[in-house]
Amino acid sequence: MSKNRTLMINEIFYSIQGESLSVGEPTTFIRLSGCPLRCSYCDTNYAFKDGKEYDFDKILKVVRDYNSRFVTVTGGEPLAQTNCISFLDLIANEYNVSLETSNAYSIREVNTNVTIVLDVKTPKSNESDSNMEENYNYLKNTDQIKFVICDLDDYEWSKKYINDYKLLEKCNILFSPSYDEMPLEDLANRILDDNLPVRLQFQFHKYIWGDVRGK
Ligand code: SF4
Repeated sequence: MSKNRTLMINEIFYSIQGESLSVGEPTTFIRLSGCPLRCSYCDTNYAFKDGKEYDFDKILKVVRDYNSRFVTVTGGEPLAQTNCISFLDLIANEYNVSLETSNAYSIREVNTNVTIVLDVKTPKSNESDSNMEENYNYLKNTDQIKFVICDLDDYEWSKKYINDYKLLEKCNILFSPSYDEMPLEDLANRILDDNLPVRLQFQFHKYIWGDVRGK
């Protein structure tokens, strides 16, 4: 098994996309192991260490068996594994692929057929120092920037940040309440009061199944 064609995989599963502009689409999720960040609200800390080494062919076989048009590569932090870039090249033309990534790794080399969902870290995540602002230069207008909002201070910070970095000119902006922290209604009201041109979203899969693994 060539080490250049392997990834540490935490899980591969088939579910309904619960976030992003593809919400509701039946999707195959490839969750890569490992993440150096420690966000306060992380709901996938089981992916920090647990994983098995898969070569690319084995991953592709599992993905093909699910027979879904949509594939999401997520984590953990997928780009913490350098082979992720070449794996994305491999699947980018065959599927409708999205990459869920924190803003802590460069997205410069990510295949342009992949939709990037970039998670800008707010202060209450405790990881805002990890944000790589140069990433905004590489976003396509089909990409998405997500802010997970923990409270109204995070909301105000995000509003200013969007303005400071002119992010509305880059791509779609998604505001998502931190699960069990920020009431959805409060976030909705603030967006309406401010007439903020962002898209409110919530974790649709948790509405269906609750906070369970593999969904
Ligand atoms: S970047 Fe994602 S996986 Fe890593 S700690 Fe933050 S929420 Fe968890």
